[in-house]
Amino acid sequence: MGYAEVSVNSPIAQRRTFSYAIPSGLSIEVGQAVWVPFGEKLLQGIVLELTRYPAVEETREVAGIIEPHPILSPSQVLLARWLSEHYLSPLFDAVALMLPPGFERRVVTFICSTHHEYDISSLTQEQRYALELVQRQGKVSLRRLEKALGKKRAQAIVSQLVGRGLAVRSYELEKVKVKPKTVPYLSLAVTADEAQQEAAKLREKRGSKQAALLDFLAQQFKSVPLAEARQRVNCDRAVADALVNKGLVTIEQIEVKREPISYQGITPSYPLTLTAAQESAFKSIQSSLLQVAKGHTSPAVFLLHGVTGSGKTEIYLQALAEAVKLGKRGIVLVPEIALTPQTIERFASRFPHKVAVLHSKLSLGEQFDEWQRIRNGEFDVVIGSRSAIFAPQPDLGLIVIDEEHEWTYKQQDKSPRYHAREVAIKLAELTGVVVILGSATPDVETFYHAQKGDYHLLQLPERVTPGGGFLPQVEVVDLRDELKAGNRSIFSRSLSEAIAEAVVNREQVILFLNRRGGATFVQCRNCGFVLRCRRCEVTLTHHLAEDVLVCHQCNYKMPVPQICPRCLSRRIKFLGIGTQKLEQEASFTFPQANLLRWDSDVTKRRYSHDKILGKFRAHEADILIGTQMIAKGLDLPLVTLVGVVSADTALNLPDFRAGERTFQLLCQVAGRAGRGTLGGQVIIQTYSPEHYAIQAAAKHDYVLFYDREITYRRRLRNPPFTRLASLVYTHPNDGLCQREVERMKRLLLEERDAKGIADLSLIGPAPAFIHRLRGRFRWQLILRGSELSAFLSQIPIPHGWAVDIDPLGLV
Ligand code: ADP
Ligand code: ZN
Ligand code: ZN
Repeated sequence: MGYAEVSVNSPIAQRRTFSYAIPSGLSIEVGQAVWVPFGEKLLQGIVLELTRYPAVEETREVAGIIEPHPILSPSQVLLARWLSEHYLSPLFDAVALMLPPGFERRVVTFICSTHHEYDISSLTQEQRYALELVQRQGKVSLRRLEKALGKKRAQAIVSQLVGRGLAVRSYELEKVKVKPKTVPYLSLAVTADEAQQEAAKLREKRGSKQAALLDFLAQQFKSVPLAEARQRVNCDRAVADALVNKGLVTIEQIEVKREPISYQGITPSYPLTLTAAQESAFKSIQSSLLQVAKGHTSPAVFLLHGVTGSGKTEIYLQALAEAVKLGKRGIVLVPEIALTPQTIERFASRFPHKVAVLHSKLSLGEQFDEWQRIRNGEFDVVIGSRSAIFAPQPDLGLIVIDEEHEWTYKQQDKSPRYHAREVAIKLAELTGVVVILGSATPDVETFYHAQKGDYHLLQLPERVTPGGGFLPQVEVVDLRDELKAGNRSIFSRSLSEAIAEAVVNREQVILFLNRRGGATFVQCRNCGFVLRCRRCEVTLTHHLAEDVLVCHQCNYKMPVPQICPRCLSRRIKFLGIGTQKLEQEASFTFPQANLLRWDSDVTKRRYSHDKILGKFRAHEADILIGTQMIAKGLDLPLVTLVGVVSADTALNLPDFRAGERTFQLLCQVAGRAGRGTLGGQVIIQTYSPEHYAIQAAAKHDYVLFYDREITYRRRLRNPPFTRLASLVYTHPNDGLCQREVERMKRLLLEERDAKGIADLSLIGPAPAFIHRLRGRFRWQLILRGSELSAFLSQIPIPHGWAVDIDPLGLV
């Protein structure tokens, strides 16, 4: 008899598997989904290993098979184990990332007949009734019997029948309900002649929109999608409804085929002739793909470093085509799918009808459909955000991570707190898949590995865009000078002149203000000095309730100073303006300009990203105001001016990555200017013009930035020279919360000393950046060291703790 090690869908299971005996006659494979008894319940599990001997003496039996074919591939099984070990997440949480959407559905119990001989007179009337029903239908759901007999009775009777060997139970997942997609169509309920007569009458009664719609429909010989009719006649739905009420028109829901991408208006595109730099980068990737195809599976990770517009996407496209030629398929990750319609179009036009798009805005049914089609091998390319790295793409040969430095690749809010880049690199190691990491501003850690030779560094130093290959001019404006000159507006003199000029010339402007995290910092308006923790170098945060300044890393506290410690000025200010305030100010300062705001307050609805972008591209607005959303890969040729209203918001976040974050954002935003033939300029406003992140961004010089940054990282022993783990405990009671974190700290230190681990240190406890969230208090510990996962895996970590290995933000 064989045994299976099963990852069970139960919070109790944590990071371990459980041994189950495989009943004879059941053939089970690794990666297969099964039903297993767990306590009183029957739960879903995934077989991770087949063994000859169980890990424990007493085992129960696998109860049944959920799906005939394995769901996880052997390398995904290894990946799931690694995710659980490295990120200290429950094993099933890791496994679940790779299951079809909606897999954790309800189980439906069925009763089947065994067709054994029996003596009718020995059965009660109810037993007979149930058994006959089961025999007639082959199988009957338990729910159906419960409806007929009552819940308690039905369960008792089923147990009796099973006990006598007359029936058996079987289990299935509830079916996924995929709602067919329908679209409303309009058609005339009267003849075309009658419709035209009605239209004439309506015109007399000033119902001209209704008349126009009737006329339009009278000219069609078939029903027309409502959306198309509305567009042609330029009317809203109420006009159609009015005609329906008059009995002149009918609206009918017609089922349409779902396509992940609308190919309307997308024409096929062909590979471009590569520039010399592109060619050399492409050749390296190509030869690596060939090596892998020949079976030399040494993992290959490429860092493709090139400014925006240097032709990275063209390389992705050609590398994917190369992989397809070799019989492989690809996965492309983009930071945020809603923000990259233009990128998706480019992939769709190069691989028509061979591109799947995965994103969370799809309904469960749609996601399920898409997942199945991917698994069936219908697509050459899967595009998606973070979790698409787990798509069941068969014959995976190439993974592309565009804008690899983006923080959205890290899952921060739930376990496993994985980083898609690390997962891709692990996959390279496990399966030999080739990985391309692309960025204009690579993550400092990624660049460090590329310099060390862990990854192959490919560089595209120049732009290939029509603008002549030049990056925009960047001017850094010192806001302290503005104040000295008596300018109290949020717009410096340079910026407001440039805006006014662009608007007059019918060019477009982007104004960028990043207010993410809502961090309030304290700054002297006279000299620009920002109050920081002496020990941690991070900015101090103002706590309103106690009116003190707190360091969120070490809990150092100080009263709010009345005068600036540097210049003794009394002009200490709490800073933090948002995009709404900016919009107000802009409309006041530039009354002749049309404004459009783009931030997460505006874009809660499904397609509003596209709508806002569409409006701006159609030049319905002169100035676009937004948060980092507008910094993403948009190609807006009419934009000649980008204004960074304050470069200091990200700079002053209490985090050692603040400089990196600022540099990345500024470069990205600057990359929005001058994409077209008109050229462009960037104006950065700041109180810290001498800061290396701002200086380097102004020169578009990544290496200048990197050299300074890596020096600081080395000196302060921050990643990549160490690893970090953040442990956050939440509890409704602040005192209890703090005590638990103190207890954990003592435990960790004891354990460290007992094991004699020299390079492990602890910071905190300190209140988390958001100290109170939804009525719960949060305290944080930060660990530094090299083998944190292994160390923490030995520590019992109670419920209420969230562990984040390699956290991105410490705030
Ligand atoms: P990135 O991804 O680095 O921002 P893209 O691949 O989007 O760069 O290239 C920027 C623009 O230049 C796009 O419009 C693209 O079509 C064009 N382009 C890229 N490579 C070439 C090439 N070899 N020849 C001509 N145009 C190119
Ligand atoms: Zn000062
Ligand atoms: Zn501190």
